[in-house]
Amino acid sequence: MTQASPQQYHLFINGEEVAPQSEQTFESINPATGEVIAHVAHGNEQDVDRAVKAARNAHESGVWSKMPTAQRSIILNRMADLMQENLPSLAALETQDNGKPINESSFIDLPMSIDAFRYYASAARMIGGQAVPVPGALTYTLKEPIGVCGQIIPWNFPIMMATWKLAPALAAGNSVVLKPAEQTPLTALRLAELFKQAGVPDGVVNVVTGDGRTGEALVKHPGVDKIAFTGSTEVGRQVMINAAGTLKRVSLELGGKSPNVVFADANLDQAVNGALFAIYFNQGQICTAGSRLFVQDAIYDAFVEKLVGKLAQLRVGDPTLNTTQIGSLVSAEQFDKVNSYIQIGQEEGATLAFGGKHLRDELKGYFVQPTIFSDVKNSMRIAQEEIFGPVLSVIRFKDDAEAARLVNEIPYGLVSAVWTENVRRAHNFASMIQAGYVWINTYNILPVEAPFGGYKQSGFGRELGMGALDMYTETKNVYVELNEASPITGWYGV
Ligand code: NAP
Ligand code: MG
Repeated sequence: MTQASPQQYHLFINGEEVAPQSEQTFESINPATGEVIAHVAHGNEQDVDRAVKAARNAHESGVWSKMPTAQRSIILNRMADLMQENLPSLAALETQDNGKPINESSFIDLPMSIDAFRYYASAARMIGGQAVPVPGALTYTLKEPIGVCGQIIPWNFPIMMATWKLAPALAAGNSVVLKPAEQTPLTALRLAELFKQAGVPDGVVNVVTGDGRTGEALVKHPGVDKIAFTGSTEVGRQVMINAAGTLKRVSLELGGKSPNVVFADANLDQAVNGALFAIYFNQGQICTAGSRLFVQDAIYDAFVEKLVGKLAQLRVGDPTLNTTQIGSLVSAEQFDKVNSYIQIGQEEGATLAFGGKHLRDELKGYFVQPTIFSDVKNSMRIAQEEIFGPVLSVIRFKDDAEAARLVNEIPYGLVSAVWTENVRRAHNFASMIQAGYVWINTYNILPVEAPFGGYKQSGFGRELGMGALDMYTETKNVYVELNEASPITGWYGV
């Protein structure tokens, strides 16, 4: 890991890097080394206001919202090309800011983000209304951009979360103010430069860095028409309350505590690998983490043993190495939270089957061993609360009925998975689970074409797919009277 002096990062407003009116900065840290890698502008209310006004002016001017979709599509594809050309440096910056393995930044996060731009570049040309059959009238709908969208994202997949929000919003012709997480603001600012290079007009994409107060100012700003938020359920609730003041459109992608269910008739080798990827990918800091692993009685002990055997082989350490599989947690705060849950699990009486230690003494950063608790009861805190770290709770079940009951006993409903070779069982599970996504014999595969989002307290609205465009458009109905005498013309008889 190289030592370099920290860089200064400004806000990105109206196509330019601008110093914050607050004149304040915050530090962005490389969590794998603890070193300060950047001083980043802390945007305050005035900065948010400036960005919203720039977005509003751009929107009203029609420079993007009324641009021919063919041209908009070319620009979004150019953005994808630029991200592809800059992939190594973007991936390195992401890993530096977040602590995730470079293999994941390079081969998962960036390619999926580029793919999203390509998909929505095409989708931009397919946004259309419909003709509505009404006798005696021509009635049709128009899909129009909402206007200025405030987008607030978390730190776990900084580029990907930015992309999932920006690509559909821009495809639909909106202008945007993006607020990245304070832990990982760097790649969003880099993306802003690439947008400019790609030909996105000034003011259409603005990035205001800062903390929760910056996000709150965006949510409350009367010039913002829509808020798209990804983050914790707790903050999501606050966003909804604050957005109510001006009745903004809101979509929320929130937390999860997702069930991964393995039946005795599953292909066990595949299921073991699937269970590992479900929970340890991105150090478990993923809203879709398969953090509740339900394993059927008959195979329970053997399954836990296999998992433990594999875990011992995972390579934890320097995320800049291609060989590293588990990197650093994102921050000191997250490190403390994960360690406290490991403590809680032991106090609750679960069996610590593997891991449980942090590696702060051996490695400088915020590394925690991948950890498994067995003999977990579904009512324990480690089975109910989102840890957002590499900690797996393995729960035993007898039969289909018990699995069906247990998996839904949770306020969350983001994703789920079932491992079985029995096609009937698989589809029955898919229909009874209260979650926005069901994987059968795989995990964490999210094609851009398919809708993603949560049931229950995991949020509402769907990202990805053509459906995401509904979150960034208003539907206008146009009714053209075709009768010579409209039904209303003689109503008053005057
Ligand atoms: P978080 O604490 O809720 O923060 C998310 C974003 O909201 C950050 O940019 C944060 O700013 C900002 N924020 C904080 N307080 C705010 C307020 N009062 N008003 C407006 N914005 C505010 O979540 P996180 O810790 O970054 O991320 C982890 C959570 O995200 C987990 O619960 C995870 O499940 C969820 N997540 C969900 C999905 C999904 O698609 N469902 C995807 C990824 C993550 P600062 O961080 O700068 O303070
Ligand atoms: Mg950082």
